[in-house]
Amino acid sequence: MSLMHDVLVIGAGLSGLRAAIELVDACDVAVITKVHPLRSHSVAAQGGINAALGETDSWQAHAFDTVKGSDYLADQDVVELLAREAPRAVIENERWGTAFSRTEDGRIAQRPFGGAGYPRTCYAADRTGHNLLHTTYEQATRMGVKFYDEWFALSLVKSESRVCGLTALEISSGEVYGISTKAVVIATGGFGRIYRRSTNALVNTGDGCALALNAGLPLKDMEFVQFHPTTLYGSNILITEGARGEGGYLLNASGERFMKKYAPTSVELAPRDVVARAIQTEINEGRGFENAYVHLDIRHLGKDRIEERLPGIREICIYFAGIDPVDSPIPVQPGQHYSMGGVDCDKSGKTSLNGLYSLGEAACMSVHGANRLGGNSLLETLVFGRIVGMAIKDFLKVAGPADRRAVDDETLNSAARVRALLSKRRGQSQSLIRQEMCRVMDEGVGVFRNAEGLKAALKSIESLSERNKKTSVGHTDTRFNLALIRALELANMLQLAEVTAVSALAREESRGAHWRTDFPKRNDQRFLKHTVVTRTKGRLVVGYKDVNMGMFEVKEREY
Ligand SMILES: Cc1cc2nc3c(=O)[nH]c(=O)nc-3n(C[C@H](O)[C@H](O)[C@H](O)COP(=O)(O)OP(=O)(O)OC[C@H]3O[C@@H](n4cnc5c(N)ncnc54)[C@H](O)[C@@H]3O)c2cc1C
Repeated sequence: MSLMHDVLVIGAGLSGLRAAIELVDACDVAVITKVHPLRSHSVAAQGGINAALGETDSWQAHAFDTVKGSDYLADQDVVELLAREAPRAVIENERWGTAFSRTEDGRIAQRPFGGAGYPRTCYAADRTGHNLLHTTYEQATRMGVKFYDEWFALSLVKSESRVCGLTALEISSGEVYGISTKAVVIATGGFGRIYRRSTNALVNTGDGCALALNAGLPLKDMEFVQFHPTTLYGSNILITEGARGEGGYLLNASGERFMKKYAPTSVELAPRDVVARAIQTEINEGRGFENAYVHLDIRHLGKDRIEERLPGIREICIYFAGIDPVDSPIPVQPGQHYSMGGVDCDKSGKTSLNGLYSLGEAACMSVHGANRLGGNSLLETLVFGRIVGMAIKDFLKVAGPADRRAVDDETLNSAARVRALLSKRRGQSQSLIRQEMCRVMDEGVGVFRNAEGLKAALKSIESLSERNKKTSVGHTDTRFNLALIRALELANMLQLAEVTAVSALAREESRGAHWRTDFPKRNDQRFLKHTVVTRTKGRLVVGYKDVNMGMFEVKEREY
C-alpha cells in the first residue's frame, strides 16, 4: 500500500517536532515515530538547555566553551549558529508554554554545567526535557502536523541520486507501507543501546543511522561516544550533571575529593570526558567502592534545595537504589550517554543524497566534535530543527515529484524481508546476541580503549552479526509483534556497533571522549579530521574530512 506526503520526518523527539512545526504551514508534512511522541528520549532530559541569556555572558563565550569542549573537532561555523540562535530557541519555547524554573526576580533560572565558563544552563528543575517535549508536541498538534504513531521506518528509497520516500511497518497491523515524499528528515535520536551501561531509553537503537548507512551514505565521527560520569550504580539511570552544578562533590572510597587531582580549576565541573576518565581511573586503580563505583555527595545542599532543584534525582535514588540522597551519598559510575557521531550532514542538515536531511542526536553536523557539553543537545534539537525546516522549504521550491515506482518496488522488498523474519520457526535467541553485543561494547569500546581490545571487539561483533542471520523472532503474529521490532533494531545496532569499533580502531590518538591508552596524546597533524565511514560492496570503508575552523585557534585543553 502506498501513501504520499511532501516531507516525512522520521522521529518525534524534540528535533523532529521542531522541524515539522517549521514546515507545517508551507507543505504537507508528516512525522513517523516508532513510539508515541511523548515517549521519545527527549522526554528524559534532566539538567537543562544552554543559552547565553546572562547580562555578562555572550554567544561568543558559549561558542568558545563548546569548541574547547569538543577538543577542537567541532565545525566552528555550526557552533557559531548554535550559540547565536540559542536565546531565540529557548525564549520561543518559553513563550509556547514551557515552565522553566525562575530566579527571585522572575527570569529563567540558569545553573552552572560542566565545561561552561558561565552559569548558562536554563532548567525546569531536573525535568527540562519533559517540559520542553510536552510543550513542543502540544504546538505541533495544535498546528496540525500529521503523525504516524507506532510506525517503524524500515528503509529509505532513492532513485536517480535523490530520496523519494521510505518504507515503514505499521506496528499495530504488521502491514508494510511505502510512503512517497520529496524530502525525508532523519531525526531518530542516538544509538546508546549498543552498550549495556547506558542512560538511554531502550528505543535508542540508532535506526536512522542504519537506514542512512544502508542507503550508501557516510556516518561521521562514530568513535566519539559520550560516557556520562554519573550514572546510578546498578541501573545506570542518569544522575544529572545539575547535581554537580548545584554543588555536589565526587568522593572515592577514602573520602577524597579526587577531582582536584584531575581538573584543579574546574574540579567536578570539568567536561564529561575528563570527569568520566577520572572516575574510571579511581575505580581501575582500586580507590572505588566494590571495584565498581564512587560516591556523588549532595547531602550538604540540604533537603529543601534538593527538593526544589533535584526532585527527580531524589525519586530515582529512592526507587532504584533504595537510598535517599538527603542523607546518603549516591553510588555512581560512568555509562554511555550520548552519540556525538551520526549521519554526515552540513549545518542545514543536508546529506549527500538530494532531499535527505538529518538532525538532532541522529545527525553529525558536527556541533559537538569529540565531546558534547551538557545542555547543548536539547539546544541543538530546537535550533537546528528550525534551520533544517527552513532549508527544506527552499528545497521544495525546486524539487520535482518523487518516483513512486521506486517506492512501490522497495515496499515489496521490505514486506518480503518482514515475512522472511516472521516465517523462520527455529533459530538462536536474539536477546542473547543483544546481551553479548552490549557486553562486548562495554568492555572493548568503553571509556578507555586500545588496539587489542578494539580488534577483539570487532571480531566478536562480526561473529555476532553472522549468528544474527540465524535467529528466529519467536512469534509469528503480525499484530503488535514487538519481538519483530527488537529483531529489526538488533540488525541495525550490530551495524552501528561495527562502525563505532572500526572508527575507533582507525583513530590512533586520544581526543575528547575517545581515549586510546596506546595513543594517549592528541595528534592534530594526523587526526584534526572527521572520520567518515561508508559501506561499499558490503565492506566498511574509512575516510576523513576536514574540520571547518573559524574564530578559535587549536590549543591544549586544560580545566
Ligand atoms: C537521560 C538523559 C538525559 C539527558 N539530559 C539532557 C540535558 O539535560 N540537556 C541536554 O542538552 N541534553 C540531554 N540529553 C540528550 C538529549 O536529551 C537528546 O540528545 C535529545 O533529546 C535527542 O533528541 P532527538 O529529537 O534527536 O531524538 P529522540 O528524542 O531520541 O527521538 C527519537 C525519535 O525517533 C523515533 N524513531 C527512532 N527510530 C525509529 C524508526 N525506526 N521508525 C520510526 N521512528 C523512529 C523515536 O520514536 C523518537 O520519536 C539527555 C539524554 C538522556 C538519555
